[in-house]
Amino acid sequence: MEQIYDVAVLGGGPGGYTAALYCARAGLSTVVLEKLSPGGQMATTSNVENYPGFAEGVDGFDLAMQMKDGAERFGVETLFADATAVALEGGVKTITTSSGERRARTVILATGADPRPLGVPHEDELRGRGVAYCATCDGMLYRGKTVVVVGGGNSAAEDALFLSRVCKKVYLVHRGAVLTASKSYWTALQKAENVEFIWNSRVVELLYGSVVTGVVLEGVESGNRSELACDGVFIAVGRIPNTGLFHGVLEMDAAGYLIADETTRTALPGVFAVGDVRTKPLRQIITAAADGAVASKYAEAYLAEQED
Ligand SMILES: Cc1cc2nc3c(=O)[nH]c(=O)nc-3n(C[C@H](O)[C@H](O)[C@H](O)COP(=O)(O)OP(=O)(O)OC[C@H]3O[C@@H](n4cnc5c(N)ncnc54)[C@H](O)[C@@H]3O)c2cc1C
Repeated sequence: MEQIYDVAVLGGGPGGYTAALYCARAGLSTVVLEKLSPGGQMATTSNVENYPGFAEGVDGFDLAMQMKDGAERFGVETLFADATAVALEGGVKTITTSSGERRARTVILATGADPRPLGVPHEDELRGRGVAYCATCDGMLYRGKTVVVVGGGNSAAEDALFLSRVCKKVYLVHRGAVLTASKSYWTALQKAENVEFIWNSRVVELLYGSVVTGVVLEGVESGNRSELACDGVFIAVGRIPNTGLFHGVLEMDAAGYLIADETTRTALPGVFAVGDVRTKPLRQIITAAADGAVASKYAEAYLAEQED
């Protein structure tokens, strides 16, 4: 007979696996549906220094595997499949995936966020041929080479720092005059001798043959254009929430994040949103994990009400 889970968790990042751990420990049958690999964005971070309990920091991928194993120890199932449609109304919810349908009485949405594209011509077709979005994933491919990092926030700063340890030269191109990244990144970047800042400029074109060979820069105020040779471009200009599946199903804010408060409850009974995918003031591993724990409490309470 087809299994109806107590809880289906959509997304295997820190929010998803924490929710799953808490639910399974509370005795709820729980499945995590993950389209790529465990850990989400966290797994792309080489050194997580602000997740408590690790005095020397921890590799994001290792932490991801620990979270997955820790949840599975209590009976959580992981299904590696892409969720392509959801039916979230009613007592039993259905998630259609690349590996068939899964049904559950509650659903915890933990689909996180993805890199925001820069929006320059040919960006998508050059992905993997010089255009990259994750320094810790692809940085080693550019060992000893020259790369451009685009952006000015924490992601761009972290990428530039990681690449400075691998590449010959790193240009950090930012449309502003100062980084918006935390001060700790700024201090470390200034010490890196092979990092050069290019302020008040944007990348407007990619130069390429079979792979990327450079970028065209444009001064934000002057409008002057110049070419800069490089072997790779790492784009780090923010994230977009993975909420495409929920359009017309759940309420979202102007930026596309799912509306849910500190209880993680959405407007649909039995449906919860945790981590980076929901409206919140701070998107971090610890806040995603905290959401996961909170969601389990409300999922449990909801299931108990249904049984009454
Ligand atoms: C470069 C970088 C460095 C960072 N450094 C830190 C740091 O040092 N400390 C810190 O606290 N935070 C850091 N963060 C932020 C932190 O990683 C995120 O806040 C956290 O991972 C969010 O967790 P999440 O579970 O909400 O979502 P995510 O980590 O985004 O995970 C979502 C998961 O859902 C899956 N998914 C999405 N759609 C589907 C679908 N349709 N079907 C199946 N699966 C799906 C994705 O594949 C992904 O695995 C960093 C982020 C980045 C990008």
